[in-house]
Amino acid sequence: MENQDIEEIRQAVRQLCSNYSEDYWLGLDRTGGYPTDFVKELTTSGFLTVLIPEEYGGAGLGLREACVVMEEVCRSGAHAGACHAQMYVMGSVLRHGSDYQKKTYLPKIAAGELRLQSFGVTEPTTGTDTTSLKTVAKKEGDEYVINGQKVWISRIEHSDLMVLLARTTPQSEVSKKTDGLSAFLIDVQAANGNGLTIQPIESMINHHSCELFFDDLRIPADNLLGEEGKGFRVILDGMNAERILIAAECIGDGRYFVDKASAYATNRIVFKRPIGQNQGVQFPIARSYTQVEAAALMVDKAVDLFDAGEPCGAEANIAKLLASEASWQAGDVCMQTHGGFAFAKEYHIERKFRETRLYQIAPISTNLILSFVGEHVLKMPRSY
Ligand SMILES: Cc1cc2nc3c(=O)[nH]c(=O)nc-3n(C[C@H](O)[C@H](O)[C@H](O)COP(=O)(O)OP(=O)(O)OC[C@H]3O[C@@H](n4cnc5c(N)ncnc54)[C@H](O)[C@@H]3O)c2cc1C
Repeated sequence: MENQDIEEIRQAVRQLCSNYSEDYWLGLDRTGGYPTDFVKELTTSGFLTVLIPEEYGGAGLGLREACVVMEEVCRSGAHAGACHAQMYVMGSVLRHGSDYQKKTYLPKIAAGELRLQSFGVTEPTTGTDTTSLKTVAKKEGDEYVINGQKVWISRIEHSDLMVLLARTTPQSEVSKKTDGLSAFLIDVQAANGNGLTIQPIESMINHHSCELFFDDLRIPADNLLGEEGKGFRVILDGMNAERILIAAECIGDGRYFVDKASAYATNRIVFKRPIGQNQGVQFPIARSYTQVEAAALMVDKAVDLFDAGEPCGAEANIAKLLASEASWQAGDVCMQTHGGFAFAKEYHIERKFRETRLYQIAPISTNLILSFVGEHVLKMPRSY
């Protein structure tokens, strides 16, 4: 796609987002509400489904375009966490789904008739140690019976489908600990109340995260995604896209903070001059700008490799680390620049500040990225 087309997408998303003011997002933050109208419009206008191939009703574009969409959503002051998962969870169906699954689900997702916003991996007792997860799926005839627990599963109450990772062969019976895990597509509406219990978690940001309890949930065996026992691969294959998209969101957040801070520093008069005339105020904003723009270059590099089908694990991880740190720094500087007003909700900065903090922890924490770089890039000993 030419740069001009990318710019058109950017402007169109910007225009769409301008219909949803920061007060809209503040209202939802206050009540824990979900941006149903916003997500619907982003879907029906084709932006949330850019990655779905044309044969299934999507735009068939690349990660570059998807990143521009998510960056602009964040830059507008919105909280992309309400809808970003569809962009990367959908890749599991696309890459590993059977023909039947792709034909059944993807056109409906592209048309906005089905929402695939939920991704169930994390468990309360095993956390980042994914291969030790304890939720089990046992095959009985033409069904799987699922028992266990998940935590922090976001948007499930606003999703029709969830990709779930569960163990189908005990860890003691597999030679590689990544084997024996399987991925499933769960029909959330059918499961809820019939073996699946959903309990919302009250949390620091309006992210619609829940605890899930599986008690003999029966699902059709056809809902297996990919090969039985190879589910870790299904999840792993989507991780580079996920890291890069989250990094693009952080670039959007970072640019939002820098724009807000520089505008406020230019207009706020104290001691009869703009506060931004003081280098103690100006330099941190300028530094944040340089950090965000440097991180954006790494995101660009990762996207280029991804869209060219080249390996990009290191670049995707590094982009996510740098962008999440840059957006957090920019948020901190924006808070400081606004002084006491930063704490007033009507300025929106404290909300964005809370929201961007997440990305140093989820979907993968900074330490785990550093472990990846230490082990896989720098060839140092594995630490866990
Ligand atoms: C708002 C929110 C939404 C989320 N949404 C989802 C979702 O939709 N689906 C889903 O599956 N999960 C979701 N998560 C979970 C998220 O992916 C995890 O919280 C994250 O991966 C960290 O896992 P943990 O919380 O269990 O931390 P832990 O694994 O307990 O780690 C705690 C701390 O210890 C560090 N640590 C752990 N092990 C090591 C090590 N070996 N070396 C160095 N440091 C280490 C970590 O870096 C971290 O800082 C969400 C979380 C939040 C907060």
